[in-house]
Amino acid sequence: MKDCLFCKIAAGEIPSNKLYEDDQILVFHDIDPQAPVHFLVIPKEHIDSAACLTEENAPLIGHVYATIARLAKGLGVDESGYRVVTNVGEDGGQSVKHLHFHVLAKRSLAWPPG
Ligand code: AMP
Ligand code: ZN
Repeated sequence: MKDCLFCKIAAGEIPSNKLYEDDQILVFHDIDPQAPVHFLVIPKEHIDSAACLTEENAPLIGHVYATIARLAKGLGVDESGYRVVTNVGEDGGQSVKHLHFHVLAKRSLAWPPG
């Protein structure tokens, strides 16, 4: 989608600190990390937010979570734990309107979130 930051990152038009990439998704480190490990998982296809997901997206979302589990293991945080968050809309605190999953780890995370 034109003028979408994460579409531009997915297309390689804007550089990112990449962790993993395949034909469906891109994983890169957050530019403003909120934990010692903080990366983002985005679909390459533009989807506004989790509010737009349908049953047809089930394989994509399964792939996202399977990839997160594999990367978390590779980073050695599968046993210490981590948090996966997707913010939706204004009250959810979504600033980039392209579906993304935050993965935060290597510190104890408070609950409930602010
Ligand atoms: P959200 O506020 O949930 O929409 O999350 C957007 C995230 O994207 C924030 O954590 C930002 O720090 C991150 N972000 C914004 N621009 C970039 C960028 N160019 N590269 C990596 N992360 C970014
Ligand atoms: Zn986009």
